[in-house]
Amino acid sequence: MIETDILIVGSGCSGLYCALQLPPTKKILIITKSTVENSDSFLAQGGICMLRDESDYDSYFEDTMRAGHYENDRKSVEIMINSSQDVVSDLTSYGVDFHREPDGSLSFTREGAHSSKRILFHEDITGKEITSRLLEQARKRPNITILENTKMIDLMVTGAGCCGAVVERADKSVEPVSADTTVLATGGIGGLYPHSTNYRHLTGDALALAMKYGIELENIDYVQIHPTTLFADEERSFLISESVRGEGAKLYDKNGNRFTDELLPRDVLTEKIYAQMKKDGTEFVWEDLRTIPEDELKSHFPNIITHCREMGYDVTKECIPVVPAQHYFMGGVKVDHDSRTSMTGLYAVGETACNGVHGRNRLASNSLLESLVFAKRAAKAMNRERKTPERALRCRVLRTSDLKEYGNMDAMARLYHRQVRDGISQARNRRGNR
Ligand SMILES: Cc1cc2nc3c(=O)[nH]c(=O)nc-3n(C[C@H](O)[C@H](O)[C@H](O)COP(=O)(O)OP(=O)(O)OC[C@H]3O[C@@H](n4cnc5c(N)ncnc54)[C@H](O)[C@@H]3O)c2cc1C
Repeated sequence: MIETDILIVGSGCSGLYCALQLPPTKKILIITKSTVENSDSFLAQGGICMLRDESDYDSYFEDTMRAGHYENDRKSVEIMINSSQDVVSDLTSYGVDFHREPDGSLSFTREGAHSSKRILFHEDITGKEITSRLLEQARKRPNITILENTKMIDLMVTGAGCCGAVVERADKSVEPVSADTTVLATGGIGGLYPHSTNYRHLTGDALALAMKYGIELENIDYVQIHPTTLFADEERSFLISESVRGEGAKLYDKNGNRFTDELLPRDVLTEKIYAQMKKDGTEFVWEDLRTIPEDELKSHFPNIITHCREMGYDVTKECIPVVPAQHYFMGGVKVDHDSRTSMTGLYAVGETACNGVHGRNRLASNSLLESLVFAKRAAKAMNRERKTPERALRCRVLRTSDLKEYGNMDAMARLYHRQVRDGISQARNRRGNR
């Protein structure tokens, strides 16, 4: 049995930042199902929102609410926006290098459904820049241990709540991890979909375990489809960032005519694209990046240019075929404003959690921010908690002899995946029947 004060399941931006916000006196174990670089946080292209100044507050709030169809939790939105400068200040203190103007001030870009420029970026690899700096910091802390290729396969639950998790190590051995507090930071669910921009190993494992133990879930039928991914034969759909459209890229039908406003919210634009594909009898529409000045295109979107070139397209000379794909999960394990789940000793942060901030549809570049803001709040809340003797005792008496039940891991994974898919369809049907 491994023993730790805090177990964080997931090494994306939410898990790492949460660990960094905890006191150095806490023994922290971060586990990740794959290697540390393989998280969606490394894939984020467009950027991270920040409140530029008070004059933008109302507009930012309204844009977030409008994108979420006004189903957002207003308090969560307020917290996210008001905490954005603090989070960005932490990031720059860790060495995150956001793009700057010649005078040294931060540069801002714009994406779909934002009414002004309020997104910080680092080329078109903002997520990699942020998450690799967080990782660097975490590796420097002697109180933080990171175990790669270590998968949470179950939670350890007693009458006192969550007391850790059962994990499968890289060598396939199964081991319990006892922890005072466990944090689910397992990201999204894209691995359950044939076409998704997410890493394939992100399969909503935390949701399956929440279902197993009756931990409350919220809005699990709210799944975002990104309107523009490269139409190509790839394991993971390659995102053509929204900020490309924010900077002027256009969408065309099969005859080369524009058919929509490119800056509509994601869900609305996705519907427009599907409708156009149906009308044209095509599997994609065209996106034209040549409308962006070439200097701007090359300096802001080098990663997109390179990837498209590798797939046979020169975006400076031709249009690229794009198609919608699963991208983001607005629903998840229900949490309060401090990221507590309905089970004692268990928190959830990042894309796995649902604090209602995104409502029915996420506004572009709000997810890195939301992940970080509420991961920090989780850390602060955990730090305020005091262990009761009764809970400590109950966690200690957990038996390890039940590990026999973890014999057929492939079958267990298939069962978890099916349960999550079924849960999402049932939630969708229930909403449809309301
Ligand atoms: C292509 C792409 C572009 C994006 N662009 C942007 C953008 O520009 N701006 C923005 O704000 N957002 C963007 N997003 C969304 C954003 O990147 C994610 O929502 C955010 O990074 C989620 O962070 P996270 O920490 O919750 O999860 P992740 O970064 O996905 O990390 C999840 C972690 O959980 C681990 N894990 C999963 N299951 C288990 C298990 N059973 N046991 C152990 N470990 C497990 C994984 O290995 C991984 O380490 C983008 C997403 C994608 C896919």
